[in-house]
Amino acid sequence: MSNDQLITVCGAGGFIGGALVADLRAKGHTRIRAIDIKPFDHWYQKFDDVENHVLDLSLLENCRFAAKDAHTIYNLAADMGGMGFIENNKALCMITVLINSHLCLAARDAGVQRFFYASSACVYNGDKQKEYNIPALKEEDAYPALPEDGYGWEKLFSERMCRHFREDFGLQTRVARYHNVYGPHGTWDGGREKAPAAVCRKVAMAKITGNHEIEIWGTGDQTRSFMYITDCVYGTQMLLNSDWVDPINIGSAEMVSINQLVDIAEDIAGVKLKRNYNLNAPKGVNGRSSDNTLIKKVFNWEPSTRLRDGLEITYKWIYDEIMAGAKSR
Ligand code: NAD
Repeated sequence: MSNDQLITVCGAGGFIGGALVADLRAKGHTRIRAIDIKPFDHWYQKFDDVENHVLDLSLLENCRFAAKDAHTIYNLAADMGGMGFIENNKALCMITVLINSHLCLAARDAGVQRFFYASSACVYNGDKQKEYNIPALKEEDAYPALPEDGYGWEKLFSERMCRHFREDFGLQTRVARYHNVYGPHGTWDGGREKAPAAVCRKVAMAKITGNHEIEIWGTGDQTRSFMYITDCVYGTQMLLNSDWVDPINIGSAEMVSINQLVDIAEDIAGVKLKRNYNLNAPKGVNGRSSDNTLIKKVFNWEPSTRLRDGLEITYKWIYDEIMAGAKSR
């Protein structure tokens, strides 16, 4: 793909979409169309030399505009958030199905060459995630289907939509199953934030206010793996430009408990906090991490940024946002 072919990034006002646009620019791509439903002021990363559009991509006509003359579409648009959001907004999560379905139709009709869909570890069968120390999730663990209610079903359905558009219509779809992505320029409060950003915010607030306590959702024994944003953006483009057509994990294999995540954030901030466990808060599955056997075999690569290193950058960014009186968008 040459640098002057048009790339459309859907969800470009969000966390991963914004980071992707920044990286595509840095790589010398000169024609980027960035689309998001959020008011432009609220986009995490904004670039004047990019075609920016505020549009609702659940509408087919707007998807046709997104696909017009595009060589590549990255679909990162979704109505989503962390566990607190997806457990309480299942219908909203499922309505996102309109975005990917309309984008697939528009991409097919416009002759788009490559189409990326951002799926999630939430597609994996819940029965495989009941214990804290479970084996990491392999791609085949998505079936028999028992994904996260609402959000996970939408992701699994949209994965299949991509597959059938490829098989039936020849649209070159690529699907990544992201595992918890974190980093600067993403949501850190307001109810849609995910665990790493929430923990950084709580630790930073404790440090700033001198109230040395932290609320943790669940027992803190839940295990997860967290992928730093630069690994996500690299893996996304690597997959898009490859011949690999099946859904594949893009996630870190460094599994930690939420308590260990808090330990790391405390260490970065140089504080020790009293932990209050809220056992009634949404906490998601007990154990989840990414088995990277397949991605290492196919691409000889896996996300490798150490959680300690990525969290340090993320903590500093959130701390600075709080000090600047910023609001998450
Ligand atoms: P995000 O919420 O920061 O970005 C998503 C963007 O989509 C938002 O800016 C939102 O305004 C936009 N959007 C929502 N509805 C829209 C619509 N109708 N039309 C146009 N834009 C719309 O989320 P993110 O973390 O950047 O996630 C990007 C993608 O990756 C999503 O599909 C998400 O489900 C997937 N994913 C993310 C993670 C993660 O940890 N961040 C993990 C797994 C999968």
